[in-house]
Amino acid sequence: MTTPYFIDVILPIPLHKEFTYRISETEANFIQPGMRVAVQFGKTKVYAAIVTNVHQTPPEVYEAKEIEHILDEIPIVTQKQLALWTWMAEYYLCSKGEVMRAALPGAFLLESETIINKKELTIDESDLKDDEFLLYEALHYQSVLRIQEIIDILGKKNVLPVIKSLIEKGAITVQEEIYEQYKPKLVRCVQLHQQYRDEDNLRALLDQMNRAPKQKAVVMHLFTLQAKSEDPVKVNELVKASNTSSAVIKALVDKQVLEVYQLQTDRVQYHSDSVEDAKQLNPYQQKALDEIEHSFTDKEVCMLHGVTSSGKTEIYVQLIQKVIQQGKQVLYLLPEIALTTQLISRLQQYFGEQLTVYHSKYSVNERVEAWNNIRDNKSKAQIIIGARSAIFLPFQDLGLIIVDEEHESTFKQYDPAPRYHARDTAIVIAKMFGAKVLLGSATPALETYYNAKQGKYALVELTRRHGNVLMPEINLVDLKTKYKRKEMTGHFSDVLLENIQEALKEGEQVILFQNRRGYSPVVECNTCGHSPQCPNCDVSLTYHNYKNQLRCHYCGYHMAMQQQCMSCSSTDLSTKGFGTEQIEKELVDLFPDHVIARMDQDTTRGKHGYEKIINRFEQGEVHILVGTQMLSKGLDFRNVTLVGIMNADNLLNFPDFRAHERSFQLIQQVSGRAGRTEKRGKVLVQTYNPFHQILQQVSVNDYSGMFKDQIEERHQYKYPPFFRLIKITIKHKDYNKVNNAAGWLAKSLRNVFKDNVLGPEFPPIARIRNQYHKNILIKIPQGQSLSKTKAVIKKINTTFSSIKDFSGVRVIYNVDNQ
Ligand code: ADP
Ligand code: ZN
Ligand code: ZN
Repeated sequence: MTTPYFIDVILPIPLHKEFTYRISETEANFIQPGMRVAVQFGKTKVYAAIVTNVHQTPPEVYEAKEIEHILDEIPIVTQKQLALWTWMAEYYLCSKGEVMRAALPGAFLLESETIINKKELTIDESDLKDDEFLLYEALHYQSVLRIQEIIDILGKKNVLPVIKSLIEKGAITVQEEIYEQYKPKLVRCVQLHQQYRDEDNLRALLDQMNRAPKQKAVVMHLFTLQAKSEDPVKVNELVKASNTSSAVIKALVDKQVLEVYQLQTDRVQYHSDSVEDAKQLNPYQQKALDEIEHSFTDKEVCMLHGVTSSGKTEIYVQLIQKVIQQGKQVLYLLPEIALTTQLISRLQQYFGEQLTVYHSKYSVNERVEAWNNIRDNKSKAQIIIGARSAIFLPFQDLGLIIVDEEHESTFKQYDPAPRYHARDTAIVIAKMFGAKVLLGSATPALETYYNAKQGKYALVELTRRHGNVLMPEINLVDLKTKYKRKEMTGHFSDVLLENIQEALKEGEQVILFQNRRGYSPVVECNTCGHSPQCPNCDVSLTYHNYKNQLRCHYCGYHMAMQQQCMSCSSTDLSTKGFGTEQIEKELVDLFPDHVIARMDQDTTRGKHGYEKIINRFEQGEVHILVGTQMLSKGLDFRNVTLVGIMNADNLLNFPDFRAHERSFQLIQQVSGRAGRTEKRGKVLVQTYNPFHQILQQVSVNDYSGMFKDQIEERHQYKYPPFFRLIKITIKHKDYNKVNNAAGWLAKSLRNVFKDNVLGPEFPPIARIRNQYHKNILIKIPQGQSLSKTKAVIKKINTTFSSIKDFSGVRVIYNVDNQ
């Protein structure tokens, strides 16, 4: 009898173990960890699974099934990635399958529920094998197919190789949810028609054009522009330079004198020979750079604490250059790609083709391409810029990770598992590679700054803005007095209005920040006090004026605005509180001659929604921009001199132990958008609590004062960085089930962890999408073993899962809950 061979695989499912399958000896000689194999799981499901181990030990409790097929010729996942997945699953209390699902681009995750689409383009059908043709044909009649349907059509189970081959031939794609395809921005450029590149023809043309002087002028201007620079000439550039209209250009195109063609903006900005040189650092930047590099000789992580507009990006650029010169890769993590197009184009100008942008909104194929380039260490994947999910890429030789705006909470994934923090994970990855980590922020997270102060990380400070630009002047406006003295117009104090007027008069721009979207949060009946509630969630509906709707911000439920109270039919309704939409409307009335735009989740939903608004503001088409937190994210507008914060109190009063830290960060970051050039910027913060310590500290840029106070509170109330947190959320649609399950869990945990277990407690919004929630918080003191703590939790969880009364109850673990 021949000795049997086996492989262990990770399946993309939330079960906490690997599964063993049987393979032949030939297969055993071929298969390596990190390759995908198609395997059957359950009765009908087929998954692409990742091999972790090839061995000869049969599983003890079940008969190993044979694999269906090997999907890869070489590993698509590296050994380091597998090690990272193991770490993540352990640390964040989830399964490796869940990590796998988050880590791999959708196209790698072929499975029964996957939907296959036909591609727009037609391909040469004679190129297809029989099975491939059959499937391709079927897609003519039905534009999408699920894998199960394909199994039926082809009359065999092993359909993944057919699908894989069709993807490679460009015949089909794998569909994922509703991701927008990434479309690079196109610019219309213009050149002389082919036939006039010949000199004789050109001369004849110009002679002939004497009768059409306007058209001739355009052609002459085109020559001038071409002589000035080798860059392609944009249509609107030519229109402007020759002071003509697009109609004239069109006439020339119709006459086949000119040719219009489309170019991607990034191509326009960097064709390989026009890559810009990095800027000369100012002395403070140079000193910071030296300190960072010096710190890397004995520390893995360095915190760069540099005020807004101090030129941190230029320092990153210098560091990146040095690392890629050594042939190593650089990972540049950003809180959010959509909001950082400005930064990306800046980096593209420096690094051109060496930069790969990895974005979950890009198409499947683009992501697979990026993945492969990074794994193969291609020159165009030397610098990888991406949001948190970029930590999952198959790096080969990482030298440096930059985490820009490291304090941002979007680095933490909330849902689904793995609920990881990209900054913390980045530090783990860097260790695997012996790479360095630079954390950058104007308002570091308390944990990070604490680690730096403790000497665990190096700390480099940059306290001046570039070009001796002053930090903005921040003033607090006392709303209580303003209302009492009747110095308010709508939600604007007289001071804020005067300053807006002044700025507009000078041709400057204004940013106004309001933390809530919609028109006003609550509609209330003045007769009986009733306010309309979401039927699925325990929240009041928010009034949206533009659509005349009441909407739930948690589940999307909406209904038409009611004219009468739904409880007592009274028509005497009033609105309480206010959101961005209302501010926008008041501004339109106050400043009818100016252009006002709003940036929040409601206005940025469409394709390239953010970019459009940011561009319009950048181009000066918009004078006042009203928005939510989105405004705080590293935008660099040259002409903004005034920032107004409509109401600081709803930030400060948020029921969360980080509310004060977050308020400080947010207000500082929003303020940082003001006065980035010579003229000193001004910030007005409207509040009912001008003496609140956080606002006092914000107003004088006192980060270290804020840090000192907050860290004391954290110590006193047992919060991070002194205690680690694990938040457990119990969910079910049955209220009693949630109560009982949460009670049981808390009691079991309390037996072990005593007073360090808090709750169970219903959160302020106890029901979302018809699911009740209850929370338990575990606090882990320094010195208590994290792995032992987690082992206990896992054991309790296993017992919990076996209790019949609790079946169907979801338990969610969030380690390092933010
Ligand atoms: P931060 O990221 O610290 O907020 P930025 O890197 O965005 O700051 O820099 C702010 C502005 O100053 C940018 O417009 C940048 O181009 C400019 N800048 C920074 N450093 C230099 C330098 N050494 N020379 C010229 N311009 C610089
Ligand atoms: Zn009523
Ligand atoms: Zn709802």
